[in-house]
Amino acid sequence: MAVEDVEFRQNSSVMYDEMISLRLGLIPLKTKLDDYNLPNECTCKGEGCAKCTATLTLSAKGPCIVYASDLKSKDPAIVPIYPEMPIVKLLKGQELELEAKAQLGLGRVHAKWIPAFVFHTYEPVIKINNASSKLNECRDKLPPQIFDGNKISEKKIMEHNLVDAVEGVCDDVIKVTHNESNFMLTVESFGQLSIKDIMKKACEVLKAQSDELLKEL
Ligand SMILES: [Zn+2]
Repeated sequence: MAVEDVEFRQNSSVMYDEMISLRLGLIPLKTKLDDYNLPNECTCKGEGCAKCTATLTLSAKGPCIVYASDLKSKDPAIVPIYPEMPIVKLLKGQELELEAKAQLGLGRVHAKWIPAFVFHTYEPVIKINNASSKLNECRDKLPPQIFDGNKISEKKIMEHNLVDAVEGVCDDVIKVTHNESNFMLTVESFGQLSIKDIMKKACEVLKAQSDELLKEL
């Protein structure tokens, strides 16, 4: 869910309407996937109705800083996740009044609809030689977090996500190779959706696309 349309009633701030709209679009909103339709799949055919659009209003008078928390939503489920994100600073006498429409969308259409940071890497295979004579020599080049007392611990390397930081520093002490038949998927949600919901939806989309391909075949 993200702000898609903004109607300005009043804007005497130093920022143009377009810039404020862009900032509003990038404010992550809590999303309820089951409560809303994608506008182009909605019964209103994208015109905008209660089933596909959430309305937020904002009214502020300077001097103040306008924060995400100043956005008042008609649907209590659709609210900014980070209330302290600043939108614009208003000086004495400046005013901002607007109505914003938030809709569901796809990350490939606009980055504001991307709900998470997702990447995958091959499974690292880490060989540690704590008895190496070079350990003292390269100790300063390695992150201190990976040491458990005087010994390097694989558990700590994984725990602190430091595989890239130790790879290639000193192969005698830590040798990193990759198992190409297994990978690790990292999903870091921005807060709009839980990781479970993101994965569930991604699998649904993948399945629908596979069904489509089968049908075509
Ligand atoms: Zn609709």
